[in-house]
Amino acid sequence: MSTPTVLYWFRQDLRLEDNPALNRAIELCQQHTATLLLVYIQDQSHEHEWQNGEASNWWLHHSLLSLNNHLEKQGQQLLILTGKPQQIIDTLVQTYNVTHVTWNRQYEPWARHRDTGIKSQLKEQGINVRSFNGTLLWEPEQIAKKDGSPYKVFTHYYRRGCLGQPHPRRPLTLNAAIGDVENQTLTAQHQNTLGEMGINALQLLPCISWDSEFYSHWQPGEATARNKLDQFAATAAQAYKSQRDFPATPGTSKLSPHLHFGEISPQQIWHSIQASVNGEALDHQELDCYLSEIGWREFSYYLLYHFQHIPKQNFQAKFNHFPWQHNHAALEAWQQGKTGYPIVDAGMRELWQTGYMHNRVRMIVGSFLVKNLLIHWHHGEAWFWDCLLDADLAANSASWQWIAGSGADAAPYFRVFNPVTQGQKFDKDGNYVKTYCPELSKLPPKYIHCPWEAPTDILRACGIKLGNTYPKPIVDLAESRKGALEAFAQCKAAFEESA
Ligand code: FAD
Repeated sequence: MSTPTVLYWFRQDLRLEDNPALNRAIELCQQHTATLLLVYIQDQSHEHEWQNGEASNWWLHHSLLSLNNHLEKQGQQLLILTGKPQQIIDTLVQTYNVTHVTWNRQYEPWARHRDTGIKSQLKEQGINVRSFNGTLLWEPEQIAKKDGSPYKVFTHYYRRGCLGQPHPRRPLTLNAAIGDVENQTLTAQHQNTLGEMGINALQLLPCISWDSEFYSHWQPGEATARNKLDQFAATAAQAYKSQRDFPATPGTSKLSPHLHFGEISPQQIWHSIQASVNGEALDHQELDCYLSEIGWREFSYYLLYHFQHIPKQNFQAKFNHFPWQHNHAALEAWQQGKTGYPIVDAGMRELWQTGYMHNRVRMIVGSFLVKNLLIHWHHGEAWFWDCLLDADLAANSASWQWIAGSGADAAPYFRVFNPVTQGQKFDKDGNYVKTYCPELSKLPPKYIHCPWEAPTDILRACGIKLGNTYPKPIVDLAESRKGALEAFAQCKAAFEESA
């Protein structure tokens, strides 16, 4: 009989530190004198459901490269495969004497379904299989109301539910034995049978190079995530509550893509931020505010877990009666950052150019799409899914439903963000707008968020010709707000009638 093998399956946990399932795999190798087989599978089993968008694939490519380099330094090799995980794992089990399999859990409905199937198949074959929590502070099943039903209101979920639980566990360090554990090497014959391929062969990078600016903004990988967290904990976290809403200020952590791909865990973030208080650097309100944002991430996963339909269906059924408009030209203007509302356009261009958009601006552009343009939130969700480096099924769907008013604990529908006053409040000098709409950069702050109000001579002096160098507003704010409220009233009435 050949040497036993422990298979560790990397998924959305592309890190070595604080990785419970990997640590367990290493322990098992030591206990059973087994070799370690490390695998990443490009999953082709859910072709029609939320395959990565283009931006996410860019991140994944670089994250895998970084992980591979890191592993090679530890004397380990990463096996890269593409196809249906169930079949691939089955082949691996047949090829190598696999006795144990471990992974960290995912919470997307399709992933849960897939994993349940693989787990029972492995168990039937007599393989020891175990999954771990490497993604969340509190697992969805752990938190419930007194009657056992899931929370639907964030503050109750977080303050009563989560904070009422024992403190999140401390991060684990990388099991030092990874360097000593023997790596399962692949013979050329096995590589052929399995279709082993390098990371490049996954073809994750875009064919059209719209990603050129990503390189100057982002560096995927565990080491960068860790450095970013340390730097954030020591600096911007100290003023998070007061600075996080200003898009021109580096007031947030920008950890979202690192968190999505599991290059860093929420436990590492939670404990680092808390530890920075001990050095009395951090005011407690700032700490609380930042940690509650991590709490919103948890809440999104919680909602997706308990209400699996939220990426596709309104959480509140009354929104099924909403009279959405089909306006392709307006949708395209929104996607391209050509609505004539500078803060909206700056946000959409930031997204296209950098694969990211500041949270305050995500709310403004989202409200503009669903309320001023009356375009279904699905279109916003899909565009973000393709363009965001941090595209995350849980956070994206919950946030779009929040904006649309159709979600759990959502913003009330009648709260329509005004892009002009939002801009004047959160980008007073227009620095954010100027970065992404350089054609407006000479406008004085007074007009930067409402160029159509600027006198002709000022526009001329600034080199702006509305409708030519910069679009005229595609909708009237007051009228479209009124239209949104009427549409909502219509939807409510239709719902009440149908009830
Ligand atoms: P920080 O302010 O530094 O927050 C720290 C972490 O907390 C973030 O990295 C993120 O993981 C989490 N977080 C913060 N705010 C939220 C929130 N409202 N909901 C859930 N988690 C949160 N976030 C995503 O990670 N992926 C998405 O696909 C996504 N889509 C969104 C769509 C819309 C319409 C809106 C309004 C928000 C969306 N968000 C999404 C939430 C939020 O905008 C981003 O998490 C945040 O801007 C990331 O920047 P940061 O890492 O600097 O955040």
